[in-house]
Amino acid sequence: MTRFIPLASPDIKDEDIKAVADVLRSGMLVQGEKILQFEKMTADYFGVQNSIALSNGTATLHLSLLAAGIKAGDEVIVPAFSYVATANVVELVGATPVFVDIDLATFNIDVSQIENKITPKTKAIIPVHEFGLACDIKAVCGIAAKYNLVVIEDAACALGARQDSQLAGTFGDFGSFSFHPRKAISSGEGGLLLAKEDSQAKKIRTLRNHGIEMIDNKMEFVEAGFNYRMTDFQGALIISQFPRIEKIIAYKNDLAKHYAHLIKNNLVTLPSIPAGRNHTWQTYHLVLDKSLNRDALILNLKNQGIGTNYGAQCIPAQLFYKKKYNLDSVKLFPNSMVAYTQGLAIPLYEKLNEADISYISDKINQLK
Ligand SMILES: *Cc1c(COP(=O)(O)O)cnc(C)c1O
Repeated sequence: MTRFIPLASPDIKDEDIKAVADVLRSGMLVQGEKILQFEKMTADYFGVQNSIALSNGTATLHLSLLAAGIKAGDEVIVPAFSYVATANVVELVGATPVFVDIDLATFNIDVSQIENKITPKTKAIIPVHEFGLACDIKAVCGIAAKYNLVVIEDAACALGARQDSQLAGTFGDFGSFSFHPRKAISSGEGGLLLAKEDSQAKKIRTLRNHGIEMIDNKMEFVEAGFNYRMTDFQGALIISQFPRIEKIIAYKNDLAKHYAHLIKNNLVTLPSIPAGRNHTWQTYHLVLDKSLNRDALILNLKNQGIGTNYGAQCIPAQLFYKKKYNLDSVKLFPNSMVAYTQGLAIPLYEKLNEADISYISDKINQLK
């Protein structure tokens, strides 16, 4: 039996573990020096004023909507194909997600379909840089400006992605990131939120910490807030990994080139990258021909030592959304349904080497 190559595996190095252990020994576990340092480091990297550490990526999306004042009766445009959290947060603030199909070549929102979905109730749009490929965020922001919509970039899997050399997360009113183990660098759970408006950033910091604000040196509870704080040992874990990010992206791009070179199967479509945008390869996502039974092949590949899975959900086809909105996803979101039912995420991360990529490519080439 060959060794098993999991779909994903975070690369935590000894120096990262030491950074965490130092914090644990210090006794300062929450909202201490490391969080301040992490926020400063990321603000510098993105070249922004307000960089806020939060407990996870979903929390960053949730607080963006609250800070933007999105509420019941409002509509928020989201891609039909993404991780469900992108739409769940819209439900959490009582607003209505309005789904737009994706472009099957990039798995990002089909920008040409956005304007059709805008109504007088539309208040915001959450474009997703899906699988780590920068979406056409410039076009999205252009539409948002025309209709006065808030833009919340879901860059959960796209740390370091760019359009025309500008970093994803710095285009919209908010830029949201996750440090879940499936992302390029991880703190177990963790999130980072960039906010353009100082007043909104202030509100987010208050909501993060039980609604606390310091007024005349006195702690006041000014909002019914959350506990969406990140721990200092998580902060230390990210601080330790953060300087490696560009190297990780470059290495993943090398591996992705090997896949593109080696995978030759008429029944398999490879991901593509439009001009002016870069890919950070959070996921290497194939689309299998309809003649292939994707779920059977996931088991088949598992038996050959390769972990694969579907990449993301067609959100309106999930039970909660189906019951609530009863949308015919096959008819309304055909590309999202193809990506959801025929998509296959295959391993691509730092710990893999060219031999692993060759082995996996061989098995993909044998799919029939
Ligand atoms: C991972 C992910 C999230 C959620 O991030 P968490 O840190 O797991 O809460 C949201 N949106 C997208 C597109 C993601 O990939």
